[in-house]
Amino acid sequence: MLNVTKPNIGVLALQGDVVDHARALEAAGANVRKVRRASELDDVEALVLPGGESTAMSNLLLAFDLLEPIRKRLDDGMPAYGSCAGMIMLARRVVDGRDDQRSFGAIDMTVRRNAFGRQVDSFETDVELTGIEGGPYRTVFIRAPWVEEIGDDVEVIGRISQGPADGRIVAVRSGNHLATAFHPEVTTDARVHEYFVTMVRAAAGARG
Ligand code: GLN
Repeated sequence: MLNVTKPNIGVLALQGDVVDHARALEAAGANVRKVRRASELDDVEALVLPGGESTAMSNLLLAFDLLEPIRKRLDDGMPAYGSCAGMIMLARRVVDGRDDQRSFGAIDMTVRRNAFGRQVDSFETDVELTGIEGGPYRTVFIRAPWVEEIGDDVEVIGRISQGPADGRIVAVRSGNHLATAFHPEVTTDARVHEYFVTMVRAAAGARG
C-alpha cells in the first residue's frame, strides 16, 4: 500500500498572500498551519514565506519576535519555500532594500528587490524549471526580485528565457531551502507546491 504522509507545513501569516499558499499546499497534500507566533513554529516541520512586501514583513517579524526563532529553525535545516517577498526574506544579501530591512540569510544569494522595474511591474512568462516535469511553468511576476549572485551550494532551478530580462535567475534551491521570484500560488498549477511538499517529505525521511 502506498504510504504517503501528510506533512505539517506552516505559512508565515503576518502579511501577504497567505490564503493562496495555504490552498495550494493543501492541494499538494500538506496539513497547513498559519504561523503568527514563535510557539506555533513547534507544530510545523517546514515553513512557507509568502509574497507580499518584504520591508513590512521584516518589521512584523521583529514586532512579533519571530525573526530569530525562524532563523534558528532555518539554520537547523527546516525546509522552507519563499516566493517573491519570501525569496527576499530567505536571501543572505538584498540589493535595493530598505537599509534596516532584515532577512534570514538562509540562501547564499544576492537578490535585487523590484528588479524588473516599474514599466513591467507585473507580467507572465513560461519558465522551464529543473526537477519539475510536465513542460514549462506559467510564471506570474508581481514587482518581483531576481537573483544576481549565488554561492557554490545554490542550484539554479529556473531562468527567464526571453525579453530584456533573458537569462535572469528566478528560481533557486539550496539544500532544504527553495525560492522563486514568481507566485505559483496565484495559478492553478500545483507543481511547485508539490515539489516543495516532496522536499519536505524527503527531509523528514532523512531525519528518520
Ligand atoms: N516588491 C516586494 C518586496 O520587496 C515583493 C513583491 C511581491 O511579493 N509580490 O517585498
